[in-house]
Order: sequence, then C-alpha cells, then structure tokens
Amino acid sequence: MHHITQIAELRSKIAKWRFAGERIALVPTMGNLHRGHLALVQAAQQQAQRVVVSIFVNPLQFGANEDLDAYPRTFEQDQQQLAALGCDVLFAPPVFEVYPHGQTAQTRVEVPELSDILCGASRPGHFVGVATVVCKLFNMVQPNVALFGEKDFQQLLVIRRMVADLNLPIDIIGLPTVREADGLALSSRNGYLSTEDRGRASGLYQTLCSVSRALQAGTPAAELEQLAIPALRLAGFQPDYVAVRSAATLAPVMPSDTELVILAAAYLGHTRLIDNLRVRR
Ligand code: AMP
Repeated sequence: MHHITQIAELRSKIAKWRFAGERIALVPTMGNLHRGHLALVQAAQQQAQRVVVSIFVNPLQFGANEDLDAYPRTFEQDQQQLAALGCDVLFAPPVFEVYPHGQTAQTRVEVPELSDILCGASRPGHFVGVATVVCKLFNMVQPNVALFGEKDFQQLLVIRRMVADLNLPIDIIGLPTVREADGLALSSRNGYLSTEDRGRASGLYQTLCSVSRALQAGTPAAELEQLAIPALRLAGFQPDYVAVRSAATLAPVMPSDTELVILAAAYLGHTRLIDNLRVRR
C-alpha cells in the first residue's frame, strides 16, 4: 500500500492506473477506522481494480464548539488495517495541502435545501464543509466510483445531489450501516462514551425500531416523531430530533410515499449520536 500525502504524487500514481485502463474507487473517511469503514473498503475492491482510501479530519465541516481537536486520530492502526485489506493507496494529506489559501478563502460547494434541515439545522455549515471536501477529493482522485455509508444518510443524499447537479461522472454507492451486537451503529464518536452511557447507547436504535414498527402498523409519522422524543429522554438521551421523511428526498412524508427513513440525533452527555432506519410501507 502506498501512503501518500501530496496531491501531485497522488495524481501521478493514479494517472498510471487510469492509463492502464483500471477502474478507481474512492472511500473518503476521517480515520479511526472501524468495521463500518472496512466494509466500505471491501465493497470498493469489488467495484474497481484500485482502491484509494482518504483519511482527512476535515476542519471545514466542524463547527466552532465541536470536537475537531478531540476527534480520535489513530493513524498507525488505520494504516495497518488498510494494508492488511490490500488497499492500494492511503491518501492522508495535511490540512495545508487541502486548504492552501486557508479555510475562510476556500471556494465552497453548497447543496441547498438538503443541507439546512435535520443535522444541517443543528450544525450550520456542516454539509457545506462536507460537500466542499468531497468535491475536492473527487477532483484530486477522479474515481469511477465512490462509496459512502448509509449511517450518514443525509450526507449520502447531499453527495448524490452534488454529483447530479455538478454532472460529476462518478457512481455513488451507499452501503448499509454496520452495527454492534446490541444495535448501536459503529461510529468513531462511540469511543467518547462513558461505560454507563455506552450501556444506554443502543436505546437510539431501539427507538428507531419502535417507530418503524408503529409506522408499519399505520400510526401517523407526525405522531411518532412527537412520541419518540420523551421515549429517548426516558432512555437517558437529550434528543436533538427524530424525523420520518421520504427516503429519496428527505421531504416530509406524503400519503403516497412508500420508501421512508426515520432519522434521529441525540446526545449522551457531550457525545452526539446519529442513526437512521429505512422503512417500506
Ligand atoms: P467518517 O470517517 O465518520 O467520516 O465516515 C467515513 C465513511 O464511513 C462515511 O461514508 C460513513 O457514512 C461511513 N460509515 C461510518 N460509520 C459507518 C457504519 N457504522 N456503517 C457503515 N458505514 C459507516
């Protein structure tokens, strides 16, 4: 596996593969890799001859009071896991390589509407930061295909819309959320949880499952959104939102919608957890 930190070196390596007619897959990450990330890498290997994994803790997507400095950085371990899987390139640029003119002066990519709701309402500017860095990574790597987790469902839709709106010739593949045995979605932020809060954490997934069952039994979405908030409080969370939306657009549910998604964000202590569950009705 090649460990590359500079865009010029990345480009020359990939150019040779592209010239040889090989397909390139990209898996963007912020590192601290877990089984969810590794499942994306393995799926990428099924899609392309060459797999590039990026590790970049993107300052542009963190708010002023968020966990940029505390975000877990475990580069050595990540590198070993990727090498063991047979990943071709680990691209881990320093911040200066990605934002040489500074973050304030950086040209931005904004996907309107989708970026301002749900997590975007709670984290202003977050999805502009995500869309901007993913667009830059797409231009650096120019992959045929890029893979993302459904764990970050809103992020996946933002990226799909960006790719469609900017006519980027890249296939976007979304993969199911990888979970712990008790249902908790794997996340780099789970490491922040105290033992006590880790014991409570699967309550988020359990709440999504309860909402899903009630939706399928015909309870109206708006009623369930309201009921889920006290249920999460009872389970020890400080809820941010619970929303039932159209899975294709994240718009409020219409009676004719059959593909739905339940999305939730809630705090345990200072740790913000997100999860979602697809529902067909
Ligand atoms: P992150 O490092 O958190 O930015 O995540 C990098 C990629 O891994 C994103 O596409 C995430 O959606 C995906 N991902 C994170 N957690 C999971 C999980 N539990 N299952 C599947 N994919 C995940």
